[in-house]
Order: sequence, then structure tokens, then C-alpha cells
Amino acid sequence: MARRVLPTTTPSRTLAEAIGFFREWGPVSAVGVGAFGPLDLRPGSATFGFITTTPKAGWAHTDLLTPLRDALAVPVALDTDVNSAAIGERRWGSAVGLRDFIYLTVGTGIGGGVFVNDELVRGTQHPEVGHMRIPHDLSVDPFPGSCPYHGDCLEGLASGVAMRERWRRSAEDLNDAAPWELEANYLALGLVNLTLALVPERIIVGGGVARHAGLLALTRRKLIELLAGYLDHPGLSDGFEEYVIPPGLGDLSGVLGASELARGATAGERITGG
Ligand code: ZN
Repeated sequence: MARRVLPTTTPSRTLAEAIGFFREWGPVSAVGVGAFGPLDLRPGSATFGFITTTPKAGWAHTDLLTPLRDALAVPVALDTDVNSAAIGERRWGSAVGLRDFIYLTVGTGIGGGVFVNDELVRGTQHPEVGHMRIPHDLSVDPFPGSCPYHGDCLEGLASGVAMRERWRRSAEDLNDAAPWELEANYLALGLVNLTLALVPERIIVGGGVARHAGLLALTRRKLIELLAGYLDHPGLSDGFEEYVIPPGLGDLSGVLGASELARGATAGERITGG
């Protein structure tokens, strides 16, 4: 029916603007939220529905659920932005019919939603695949990394923020080969770890950085080199053309996944599969 993009400012202002949107277009029967995190999604936790330790200024320990519930008086379902995108892709996009796949976003940050055996992976909390450690050859790339927690984790080396800090230009303004060669190297290292740990049927790679023309093709080639023939994956025969792919829903995966979360909230179910 409608779509509105609001800047992320302070929690009170951003949530008030979101509530205003729903009041304008409502009444709504449920709300689905796909949010950046980390989030507390442990059922029964006193801080369920809170953002926890985010480095995003002003947002740490923010209660996302209560303001929306109080203002709109409807069920509110919450999951991470990447889990929400994975749910959207599974319902309508590049993962329809798949039981084992990963949605990875490569934008300002890096994160992933993981379906295994038709269920979203929820360990003691949601996975944080963007912060996995990967080899970093300082003689090739002396940039120390941008992650405030780990420095040169995957996100610290390959996110949009890392690219901007390393090359002093944003990813959209980088057109020479070297930055993208390095970016494909790091993404392939992340993907080879995910592939070996989880052996999914497919990895969907979304996000603003991943949209760069040719990046996924280069990443597929490097991934095949890194696997070195070890895995007998069905995708190898077509050069992983169908294994590492962009989202079928473009930049709508997350918001459409959130609508699916809302549908689950009206039915009183938690969308994890099925
Ligand atoms: Zn990190």
C-alpha cells in the first residue's frame, strides 16, 4: 500500500515517526519489525525486544517493542533485519522452496540470517556472522579494520564503512579494480567459512555494497578457488551462478519479511519455518 523511508535519528523520534506512518495508513492489525541489532530475542527475558550493545549512537538498550505496542495496541513481532530479509526471500524471493540457505547483507555493516533444516538458526541469541574472523594479510591490506569491537573481522574489513575508511571514498565512488578485487577476496573468505560450516543450498547476498556490478561474479570465482575442489557441491558445475545470487526482492527483502512477521503475529505464531 505504501512505503516510507525515514532516517534513523534518535530512538524516540524515529519510533514516533514510524508510529505516525502507521496511524496515517491504519488501522493496522499487527506490526512486524526487522531491526538492526544486536537484539534480545530470548523469550521470557526481562529485556526481550531491546536493542542491546549496538555501537549506533543513542540506540544501545532501546526498547523497540513497548512504544509500538502502547501506541498502536496491536501485536508486534520483532526480528533482526537480516532474519526478516531471509524470511522475505524464503516467502517470495530467491529462497522459495529452500530449506537451507543464508541471507547475507553487505552494506554499512555485514550480517546474515541463516535457515537450517527449514528453521531460522537461533542459538543463545541470533547469529552474528558478519563478525567472523577471516585471514587478513597486512602486507597486502594494512588497513586495521573498522569494527569497534574486533577491528579486522569480516565486517571490519569488508563493510561499506570499512571501504570508506580504507579508500577515503564511499563504495559508490570506487570504480577502479583494486578495491573490488580486495572486497571480493574478503567476501569469498566469509562465504567459504559459511559454506563449510553450514553447507547451505544457496547464499543470497544483498545490501548496497553487494550491488556493485561484477562483485558477485568475482566473489564466486574466488570462492571456487578457496574451496579447491574439496566440496562436491551441485552448484560448482555452473560456476556457482545459482549458489551465490542477489536477492529476488531487491531492497525490499527486509520490509516484505517484516510483513510476514506481522502476519505471524496476528496468527499468534513465531515465524521460524513451515
Ligand atoms: Zn566485528
